[in-house]
Amino acid sequence: MTTATAPAPQPLAPPPDLVPPPAPAAAPRDEIAVFNPATGEQIGSVPVLDRAAVLSAVDRARQAQKAWGALSVEQRCQRLSPLKGVLLDHMDDIAAAITRENGKTLQEALTMEVIFCLELLQVYLSRAPKALAPRRLPIRLAKNRASYLHYVPRGVVGVISPWNFPFSIPFGEVLFGLIAGNSVVVKPSEVTPLIALKLRELFVEAGLDPELLHVVTGRGATGAALIESGVQHICFTGSVATGRRVGEACGRLLIPCTLELGGKAPAIVCADADVGRAAQALTWGAFANHGQVCASVERAYVDERVFPALKDQVVKLATGLRQGDGTGDVDVGACTWPPQVDKIRELLMDARDKGAVFETGGIPEVGARFVKPTVLSNVHHGMRIMKEESFGPILPLMSVKNDQEALDKANDSDLGLLAYVFSADAEKARSIAERVQAGTVMINDVLASFSMVETPWQGVKASGIGRTHSDDGLRDMSECRHVNYDRFTLGDREIWYYPYSNGARSMFRRLLKLIYGSGLGRLSKPR
Ligand code: NAD
Repeated sequence: MTTATAPAPQPLAPPPDLVPPPAPAAAPRDEIAVFNPATGEQIGSVPVLDRAAVLSAVDRARQAQKAWGALSVEQRCQRLSPLKGVLLDHMDDIAAAITRENGKTLQEALTMEVIFCLELLQVYLSRAPKALAPRRLPIRLAKNRASYLHYVPRGVVGVISPWNFPFSIPFGEVLFGLIAGNSVVVKPSEVTPLIALKLRELFVEAGLDPELLHVVTGRGATGAALIESGVQHICFTGSVATGRRVGEACGRLLIPCTLELGGKAPAIVCADADVGRAAQALTWGAFANHGQVCASVERAYVDERVFPALKDQVVKLATGLRQGDGTGDVDVGACTWPPQVDKIRELLMDARDKGAVFETGGIPEVGARFVKPTVLSNVHHGMRIMKEESFGPILPLMSVKNDQEALDKANDSDLGLLAYVFSADAEKARSIAERVQAGTVMINDVLASFSMVETPWQGVKASGIGRTHSDDGLRDMSECRHVNYDRFTLGDREIWYYPYSNGARSMFRRLLKLIYGSGLGRLSKPR
């Protein structure tokens, strides 16, 4: 027996004009893959956020800022104070995450990044109320009036950061932005975005309203969108080329910007320097962080009387450095960003072709993940390596006849971020330091002023505009406003008010002579 089953009812076919178009294949989300520079292994990915996403983050940050900006500086510092404990609890995870994404050694992650953040918290959570307190201005002319400056939050601060200090650079700018009463939106480097996301998590774990700090991941276009999103200040750290574009965009919008750009730090080693210390400092200053420090010793001018001794010691130290994956027991880690190796190759090939001697190290292969610490001699200013930032572990040593030649060579640069002078004569060293065209000059030391957070980090020439760190860097995150008020009034009008008359004019002429022409003006001191 066969049983017949009724055919299942078929859905009615819709009329042809109602047939939906075929579903589009899911558009591939624009993503950035993130790699461990030491191993080449992919360790994550982040979305590329478009203009709408950036606008939304800025808008949310703007809403949250209203209540935050209304708190006093003391209250904001108090709310941020749990962050120190959170950083201490997580310091090993933070260091590991920095090393995994950036390639520096674990020790550098602690001694060059985490320490800076802790020091900034230690100093500025107690110092900020004083640094941001109103400041009275002395006035000489009008004894009946007084003036003071006061500091008001700007609103939303945009932070655009690079890959070489992917944690500490945005951390410092975020912290100062928040202390000053702003909310902050960070656009981290596309090379190292994961650690910036971790940075936000740490602030939130410490109790910060998550809406006060946003991270927008993406490439240059996301940074450009942040500038145009209606933020009130841009704090940019990166290359000179991008800095120019950022400065132009901020100029068009008339929003203030801080530009922390590239460096080509010279080291001057005088004949009376402690050669042993100078050799140690130059070696560390050139190769730490794989040479990827805006303040790296990028060229050294060494008095010919100590040149042979210094070169021998530097070469010995450089040859002994162990290089590899930063998680191991090594001194020098990996190059964070592969295209940087191409730039280093170009500069080294140019130097070789123009006669540089490779005392140690060499030209890296295409695609290399590690560039060997390289010491050059027989260099001159016709070589690109003496003029362009290499951002790699390269130390060119140039013999000079005297301090003046060293100074002239040091100043023969478009850049002026950091510079170093080595001498046993404190007075002479300071006299040289004051003539070097650099935002900061350290005497008998290198790099370390970064963690001396009360001091400004700033460039002159093409190395930047404005500063971060220091009381002035904190104040730059605020709008500085001026109030001028009357201590007492002099009747119903000032003498320069209407009506004008010949009599009043001749009285003014006599007054100007009295105030500015005789000793009277000099005797009258500003209050
Ligand atoms: P970069 O200029 O390539 O990029 C910096 C940031 O700018 C990145 O987040 C990038 O996505 C973003 N960006 C790119 N185009 C943009 C645009 N049109 N508008 C807005 N944002 C844009 O620099 P980098 O290679 O990441 O960093 C290395 C450079 O940074 C070196 O020159 C180094 O000396 C400099 N640096 C300076 C300091 C300092 O304090 N002066 C500190 C660290 C690094």
